[in-house]
Amino acid sequence: MSNNPTVLEIDTSAIKHNLQYFKSKIQECTKLMVVIKAFAYGSDAIAIAKILEQQNVDYLAVANTEEGIDLRKANIKLPILILHPQIENFESLIHYNLEPNLYNFRSLEQFITLAHKTNLKNYPIHIKINSGMNRLGFKENDLEKLVSILQNLENLKVVSYYSHLAASEDENEKEFTNNQINLFNKVTHYLDKYLKYKPLKHIANTSGILNFANSEFDMVRLGIGFYGFGNDILETTKLKNVCNLKTKISQIQLLEKGETAGYNRKFIGKENTKIGIIPLGYADGLNRNLGSSIGSVYIKNQKIPITGTICMDMTTIDLSGVNCEEGDEVIIFNHQDHILDLAKKTTTISYEILTSISQRVRRKII
Ligand SMILES: *Cc1c(COP(=O)(O)O)cnc(C)c1O
Repeated sequence: MSNNPTVLEIDTSAIKHNLQYFKSKIQECTKLMVVIKAFAYGSDAIAIAKILEQQNVDYLAVANTEEGIDLRKANIKLPILILHPQIENFESLIHYNLEPNLYNFRSLEQFITLAHKTNLKNYPIHIKINSGMNRLGFKENDLEKLVSILQNLENLKVVSYYSHLAASEDENEKEFTNNQINLFNKVTHYLDKYLKYKPLKHIANTSGILNFANSEFDMVRLGIGFYGFGNDILETTKLKNVCNLKTKISQIQLLEKGETAGYNRKFIGKENTKIGIIPLGYADGLNRNLGSSIGSVYIKNQKIPITGTICMDMTTIDLSGVNCEEGDEVIIFNHQDHILDLAKKTTTISYEILTSISQRVRRKII
């Protein structure tokens, strides 16, 4: 067990709060899928999945087959949708009882062949409809051929039809989103005429849940909201921050005027400069562009600029005038505002800040 002071704490009570919040936003009969791809948005997929198994969640989703296998190896029993499986992995996907998204004729036909060969019975599959995102999925003009295949499935069972919204967080794209929802409705109505049973339908991500009541269908796929981010500041304040990145000051250096610090001497000391060295760098996921006073960290609620060049394994902070000692706690982020600030300063989104925290950083469930 590592005791490295650099740690990403995962707040169980925040998780439960956020889950409850989103449950209150949907009808009781609507199923809930939680998306835990990319190590559960940079946190800890196995730990999160174990919590979710106790929380009455219906489904989990990850992007790759490998991510699903990791969950099964950790004894996670919930059904797991693989959002973007590769044909090369279909055999192991079946071996670990994972449920593929089949999104084109190539993947569907390959899976049918394998299912036949290995004599599967009622194996769950999900069919993706392209309603305008133009990433994965069958288009409207594929439907006739799709139906002819789905009608004759022997070894497989369609658990769900689903699609993905391209701009559900964007107020200016309301019409586009409603068109996506309407098209999905139309396509699935058509498909429903041909199967003897009714697969689930789902299209809503976090912003779909928050902005489009008509996107609810039979299930919703909750991602970023679960980790504490709504589609605007107001919604975000109703959620709790899940991931807290912390460390401690390794060393304090007192510089005389004109002395410099770090690679390429990027930091130049003024009168009586005090700097601190903290044990995390760009290899831990702290974007190198946050150096030279662009980004900040926090000590005892005081905002402290990151100075000089961020190194691979350590970062320098400007402690001039700050009352602190070696060994004191430094917060990189423990509030959504901190994460949004880092995102803004590196021209990205909260999703990327969270998923960039590298696997070297110890995770701790609290
Ligand atoms: C990542 C993902 C989600 C979750 O999206 P959020 O915006 O994080 O809620 C839902 N569905 C699919 C297909 C995804 O890839």
